[in-house]
Amino acid sequence: MVKLYNTLKRIKEELHTRETGKVKMYVCGPTTYNYIHLGNARPIVVFDTVRRYLEYRGYDVMFIQNFTDIDDKIINKAKEEGVSAKELAEKYIEEYFKDADALGVKRADHHPKVTEHMDDIINMIEVIIENGFGYEVDGEVYFDVRSFPGYGKLSQRSVDDMRSGARVEVDKRKKDPLDFVLWKPAKPDEPSWDSPWGEGRPGWHIECSAMSLKYLSNGFDIHGGGFDLIFPHHENEIAQTEASTKEKPFVRYWMHNGFITINQEKMSKSLGNFFLVREILEKFPPDVVRYYLLATHYRSPLDFDDTKLDMNAKALEKLKNTRARLQELMTQVSIVEDIPLEGVHLRMIREIDKARNKFEEAMDDDFNTALAIAGLFEISKELNNYINQRDFLLDKQQTKVVAAGSRLFEDLGTSVLGIFGLETGSDKENNLEESLIQLLIDIRQKARGKKDWAMADYIRDQLTEYGVILEDTPKGCRWKKG
Ligand SMILES: [Zn+2]
Repeated sequence: MVKLYNTLKRIKEELHTRETGKVKMYVCGPTTYNYIHLGNARPIVVFDTVRRYLEYRGYDVMFIQNFTDIDDKIINKAKEEGVSAKELAEKYIEEYFKDADALGVKRADHHPKVTEHMDDIINMIEVIIENGFGYEVDGEVYFDVRSFPGYGKLSQRSVDDMRSGARVEVDKRKKDPLDFVLWKPAKPDEPSWDSPWGEGRPGWHIECSAMSLKYLSNGFDIHGGGFDLIFPHHENEIAQTEASTKEKPFVRYWMHNGFITINQEKMSKSLGNFFLVREILEKFPPDVVRYYLLATHYRSPLDFDDTKLDMNAKALEKLKNTRARLQELMTQVSIVEDIPLEGVHLRMIREIDKARNKFEEAMDDDFNTALAIAGLFEISKELNNYINQRDFLLDKQQTKVVAAGSRLFEDLGTSVLGIFGLETGSDKENNLEESLIQLLIDIRQKARGKKDWAMADYIRDQLTEYGVILEDTPKGCRWKKG
């Protein structure tokens, strides 16, 4: 049974979905005015992994992630660059997919854009006003916070506390300083849409209420995002949707991931201390970045620096080596027979089953990827010891164990965590290939130095078989692909 930490109640709860066997989830997506930074990538990878695990658990998952493609920041940057807001947003949506694809993030079932859902947004605002939770002043529509009794339930703050704590500007048009904008009039040179309140565009929060309701309908299962979205964004989403549908709850489980920090400070565009995903991908392969994001529990803060990525690269390499050995052995297998196992083989297959159970227990407990990965290391070590036994033959018994080990790695590492099988870039692969060939040449030179001609010839002949031709010249050994 999957349990997850519900921010709304501040406890872990068993997942009971609205429809048996189905999970409907919505995750707030990026505002498309720049390349995504690592702080944006964390929720993207975390919720992709939540989705993958729920699918592994047999759920049919409907996954929605929006694009905020109209916003002050987009309009300002478009003006700076001399392009339209639409062109700018489209460009960064394309760039978003390049980064997300590189990190092995599956595409959502829908990626709705604000500019394509204006009718839904306007309809929702109309219903909110009709139901007595919104009001218009001079072409601007506000949500009337005092009219909605549950305001503050997600962030667990009372309206009075918020009012005294917040540095809210006094705006005479608002009934209460906490009232927030649902619709605002457009300035003359800004993109705008026709509405019952004049030409304008929506406030930020209403888009996620309107689009989640459209694609998932009321009372869906999981809503995700970063901790910083709890207030005001998600608090306002609850107010808007419940005010318009008059049904509770709008969402059953609220999930929030922790920040990425640099020197203990939150990484954000506004603080200017961010690293773009593509800058990091120039230095590190995508599987290392994905692994780094999952090696810490999603609710814990994650501090970033290059040395941590180096350490993660080394750790991941160990798992990848085991997987490569299993895959290599599996290429020699044509049939896996269902035979009873004995002795060390029986013990090993039990360890593999145990490893799967431990992984599932860790992931069932609020998607504890850190613990799940630790378990993979344990079984990886055991599998290596098993394969390294002196009498390892790949007979029927060993074939069955290797097949089970390989399936374990593919199910958990490739399908759920997504840390195996990512493209690592042809340059890096070429570099590795070159280094390995050079290493073999060096070993051959050492063998020649010891007059071990048989070993030297063996290395040369084997390399020739792989299409690598060695030429001994007065200046040393050269190689080329034949
Ligand atoms: Zn949102």
